[in-house]
Amino acid sequence: MSAPVPPADPEDHVALLPARLSPSRAKDYSTCPRKFYFTTIVKLPSPATVETTRGTLAHAALERLYQEPRSARVAEAAVSYVRPAWAELLAKDAASARPAYQGLVEAGSPQEERLLRDAEQFVRNYFTIEDPTRWDADAVEKHVSADIGALTVHGFIDRLDHIHGKLWVTDYKTGRMPRPRYQDEAFFAMKVYALLLREMTGIMPHQLRLLYLSGRGPGQILRADVTPAMLSRTRADLVGIWRRIQSSAARRDWPAEPGPLCGWCAFKPICPAFAPPPAPAAPDGQAPPHPTDPREPPG
Ligand code: SF4
Repeated sequence: MSAPVPPADPEDHVALLPARLSPSRAKDYSTCPRKFYFTTIVKLPSPATVETTRGTLAHAALERLYQEPRSARVAEAAVSYVRPAWAELLAKDAASARPAYQGLVEAGSPQEERLLRDAEQFVRNYFTIEDPTRWDADAVEKHVSADIGALTVHGFIDRLDHIHGKLWVTDYKTGRMPRPRYQDEAFFAMKVYALLLREMTGIMPHQLRLLYLSGRGPGQILRADVTPAMLSRTRADLVGIWRRIQSSAARRDWPAEPGPLCGWCAFKPICPAFAPPPAPAAPDGQAPPHPTDPREPPG
């Protein structure tokens, strides 16, 4: 996978602000404004990784599962959707102007097989949490969008269920379940979805559910009941984040804020927090010697 190329810095950052914000981009800004700059202002693509790809495949299989009749929603059928989803992804990628999966794993290699088996295991783990023959989903990959203050916010909900007159919002996660002190943070996107649903329908969802499918063992579930106070805080958070984004754009200032997630950041090779500073120009106009240049005697 090739490293991203450092972008040219545009003149007018305000003009490049997005017309609508997703929870992922809002979270990018609140964890590291520089990451938001890379993804949203200069629009560098985030290359696919093995981790994101196996998650995409498990999501595709579970999306298809709920489009089948209840009697067909069995684990082996769901697992069998993973490999066709991979073939479809590769075919779309080959036709794309910005291919994301080329070179990720070699066709027929043990690495490709491992990726597919992991995705299949995630799908199997799903069946340790729920029995999908007991209800029909209200919607899968549901697009939600609403104006929050001066900002349009939108996103996609993995699954929405309407059971016993209540709305349940479900997202599948294929990363590791966060430790207790980070679990509230893990619900950020879900809280935004709950707010958007209430704005769109006037109905407050009943519960948010994160289904963790990774690992060899049974899946795990995190739940959060939706309250009016939760939605008010989420609204205030979004309005605050958008104000800070506008201010960063006006000042053309997107500070890098290194943290534990830098290890997973695609932009680390070009991030000012990690990239070596440019070498100073030598007074006579010649390039300064490389640190390993034999002309430089060891000190
Ligand atoms: S490497 Fe870390 S500090 Fe740099 S852009 Fe990514 S998240 Fe921000």
